[in-house]
Amino acid sequence: MPSREPGASRFADLEPLLARVQKPVQYVGGELNSTVKDWHCGGFGPDGAERTVRWALMYPDAYEVGLPNQGVMILYEVLNERPDALAERTYAVWPDLEALLRSADVPQLTVDGHRAVGGFDLFGVSFSTELGYTNFLTALDLAGIPLHAAERGDGDPVVVVGGHASFNPEPIADFVDAVVVGDGEEAVLRLTDLVGAWKAQGRPGGRAELLLRIARDGVAYVPGLYEVDYLPDGRIRRVAPRAGASGIPWRVAKHTVTDLHAWPYPKRPLVPLAETVHERMSVEIFRGCTRGCRFCQAGMITRPVRERSITGIGQMVEAGLAATGFEEVGLLSLSSADHSEIGEITKGLADRYEGAQVGLSLPSTRVDAFNIDLANELTRNGRRSGLTFAPEGGSERIRKVINKTVTEDDLIATVAAAYAAGWRQVKLYFMCGLPTETDSDVLQIASLAARVIETGRAVSGRRDIRCTVSIGGFVPKPHTPFQWAGQLGAEATDARLRLLREAIRADRRYGSSIGFRYHDGQPGIVEGLLSRGDRRVGAVIERVWRDGGRFDGWSEHFSYERWMRCATEVFADSSVSVDWFTTRERSQSEVLPWDHIDSGLDREWLWEDWQAALAEEQVDDCRWSPCFDCGVCPQLGTAIEVGPTGRTLLPLTPR
Ligand code: SF4
Repeated sequence: MPSREPGASRFADLEPLLARVQKPVQYVGGELNSTVKDWHCGGFGPDGAERTVRWALMYPDAYEVGLPNQGVMILYEVLNERPDALAERTYAVWPDLEALLRSADVPQLTVDGHRAVGGFDLFGVSFSTELGYTNFLTALDLAGIPLHAAERGDGDPVVVVGGHASFNPEPIADFVDAVVVGDGEEAVLRLTDLVGAWKAQGRPGGRAELLLRIARDGVAYVPGLYEVDYLPDGRIRRVAPRAGASGIPWRVAKHTVTDLHAWPYPKRPLVPLAETVHERMSVEIFRGCTRGCRFCQAGMITRPVRERSITGIGQMVEAGLAATGFEEVGLLSLSSADHSEIGEITKGLADRYEGAQVGLSLPSTRVDAFNIDLANELTRNGRRSGLTFAPEGGSERIRKVINKTVTEDDLIATVAAAYAAGWRQVKLYFMCGLPTETDSDVLQIASLAARVIETGRAVSGRRDIRCTVSIGGFVPKPHTPFQWAGQLGAEATDARLRLLREAIRADRRYGSSIGFRYHDGQPGIVEGLLSRGDRRVGAVIERVWRDGGRFDGWSEHFSYERWMRCATEVFADSSVSVDWFTTRERSQSEVLPWDHIDSGLDREWLWEDWQAALAEEQVDDCRWSPCFDCGVCPQLGTAIEVGPTGRTLLPLTPR
């Protein structure tokens, strides 16, 4: 009978179940560069007290999506480098294994040591999207951790969440103990210090004392120590520290890693066992973006821009390739072609790996930052995939509203260069439902795509030119200028998408060369509810989960009907509803559920930028124009860190 001692491997319990599930390899672990440390790696103090702090880290989606996630991979390595800490990973289990685990009474396990998640000190969950919330509840339940934070005891892990979705943690406030806002590297080490000290002191005051220490430290927001008062019409009156929770901040500030060079992670990237969504070695070449696209939460909450130098990037690429054997390097950021040394970096890497079967890719390229030299460097080793650009809005007018400073002529010039250089396929991303949008703005996408095909045929002299239009519903996000905007309803979104599809199909000259991919409006409404909801939405998430909701990011598992039915039941006798949280425009004076989470952005500046959007005014990027006082740098004592450094890519270290 395998031991059920905390820290014991439960693989012997899991293994017999794997023959009866899909993709069992995703649960076995043992990847190249994975780590399994001794459960007592930190040793014991002279008083016999534990000196090890144990983290179970989760990406709340399937292995194939979670394994390549840079955030979890970085924290996994940063924590395991500490002699007194250990970190293991866990991902969402598919429904087939969930059922078997329940019937065999086997808990949620890590993939590294197959240890029960419930036995760790901290359970850290990284949310890139809100659609992972139901999987999070499944993991808590399978781990034997009470769903509600208020019902947890001293023996339960401290449940800590992070990731972009945590900039409005209120919808899941009832289920989490602490929220790390912003960059995680320094925060997880600070939390490890706090938990380690509390354990070494013999756990004084129990869980309550530990959470109070965490809140007072400011390293994380502890929702349980704050109360929310509401106005009769449903709006929030205020969010404030509870009586007795003295010394905790009214607003909790985000963490910003100021010197990326000090954090050259991941050094030894994990090499997946099963097929994953990204099969490449990724290096983050800079963090943050100040292009100022008003719909883009990532660009707003990760300010300011902090570049990694060409030398640092070169060292990380070399070390990562040596440690993994990957054949593709992804140069990651929110807009990689904006790196001040991108030309030198791509040329230097293409020179260095020419003939070595190592491909380079830039996951995100802005139309106005793209150039053919860059594209040729990227494809020098013969790997040429399609090009993807994101104009986002179909008309010049709507692009001014969203501050996407790309003109139609910019786009046409860029695709002309690409088609002339031999590309045959271009993908264009758009959104539907943007503030002030009309049918005409969306229909202009059809004429834009036709002009792309016309241009491609003209410059290449070929007819096998293709352009794919990919479009989805716009979801207003917290900490952006559009946080006050009303969201377009699902039916209205679908009607506008139908108009566009019909316009493209009706184009006898170019329609057959234009692909059309779209996400209908329904998932966007659920994402909107979870993005801008408050604590009252927690009951909806729990009801959906109890009703079988899982993997909401997967169309084959997502059920709009279930979400709307559960929300209607939960909000039945209240003054709020799904529409209230999604399609309703907010006033400047309304207290927003996330106003006590300090992203560094000045609220007045966000409101002014919202007004500028309505006036179709554009704002330039503070990397290339004077600071426009968004508030981040002075408030957080940071500054933008961009090159060029004038350094060069060091030659390969001879092996
Ligand atoms: S404070 Fe100024 S320099 Fe800093 S990110 Fe905002 S606009 Fe840019």
